[in-house]
Amino acid sequence: MTQAIAINNNHKLDLKPLAMPERLLLGPGPSNAHPAVLTAMNTSPVGHLDPTFLTLMDEIQSLLRYVWQTSNSLTIAVSGTGTAAMEASIANVVEAGDVVLIGVMGYFGNRLVDMAGRYGADVRVITTPWGQVFSLDQLKEALETHRPRILALVHAETSTGARQPMEGVAELCEKYNTLLLIDTVTSLGGVPIFLDEWGVDLAYSCSQKGLGCPPGASPFTMSSRAMEKLQNRPTKVENWYLDMNLLGKYWGSERVYHHTAPINMYYALRESLRLIAEEGIENCWQRHQQNVEYLWESLESIGLKMHVEKQYRLPTLTTVCIPEGIDGKAFARKLLDEYNLEIGGGLGELAGKVWRVGLMGYNSRPEVVDNFVDVLKKVL
Ligand SMILES: *Cc1c(COP(=O)(O)O)cnc(C)c1O
Repeated sequence: MTQAIAINNNHKLDLKPLAMPERLLLGPGPSNAHPAVLTAMNTSPVGHLDPTFLTLMDEIQSLLRYVWQTSNSLTIAVSGTGTAAMEASIANVVEAGDVVLIGVMGYFGNRLVDMAGRYGADVRVITTPWGQVFSLDQLKEALETHRPRILALVHAETSTGARQPMEGVAELCEKYNTLLLIDTVTSLGGVPIFLDEWGVDLAYSCSQKGLGCPPGASPFTMSSRAMEKLQNRPTKVENWYLDMNLLGKYWGSERVYHHTAPINMYYALRESLRLIAEEGIENCWQRHQQNVEYLWESLESIGLKMHVEKQYRLPTLTTVCIPEGIDGKAFARKLLDEYNLEIGGGLGELAGKVWRVGLMGYNSRPEVVDNFVDVLKKVL
């Protein structure tokens, strides 16, 4: 059924009902949503203050505490993508002039630098080559030098495929009275995280990577220490939409209207978290690890090399070195056009050097690995 629809007087668009291709999304995100999550989304919205919806919000909070292994009372979903939750972390605790130390080991560390600067932070940066991580000694030395109010690290750097070890970091932060903020956008659901055990004060994530949900509702949590800093601010949070003083009243017992929640996104998030709870978070981590090891072996068996040293590789995202003489971009385009299969290219220092292959959430399955490696064998 084709119908030419006139818009803006003289402009005509040939609009058909929506028909998008079925892609296998093995890039850095979004990943394919679990079918049950899509079914949950396809449910009529209720009102955002409907008692059944408020119950669903409570369930999201409990489930997020479970997948993150935290008891933080302020644990919610931000209406927006991971970047909105990232901005919420910065906006609520950074006050003008605060020294914020940021570990930059790739693209997303740089995004934190830009954001913290916009909120008036006195930003200090430490860096690693892309694909490497910080040692405890490096972090200790930097904390000693800069004495920051906040240390921000990217737990899973999606631009490089490296996982920053978190053991021992909180003990260092405690010594310098530093709040610890971590980006878990590409780790939540797929990589073991123990927020409370690790002494993390602020963390955020997204829905479309390890949780197997479409993008649009993003987990956020803050500890009572971070809450205290927020409550002692002499100035208002500069970002109204992401102000946790206000959002906490909608998610907490007061249920005060703040914004209209993206109802169906919350249905999706709730369903994706329920599926993880049903599987068991430890089993979910183990599944990601097993399938990625199978991917690495399969890729090595056809002569490909990984960019990151094995012990620091992420189970959710692998950077694969592009073999000599292959145009990485054209190759990825061919996979998309001819096999409906998406992988990512390199960013920044790794542009043109690696492909980024995600096995996240619902896509972390052995048959997906087989399918991908078969296609690679054909095309390479
Ligand atoms: C994807 C990603 C983000 C941004 O999330 P969006 O949902 O794209 O806004 C932030 N940090 C990391 C590490 C990511 O991988």
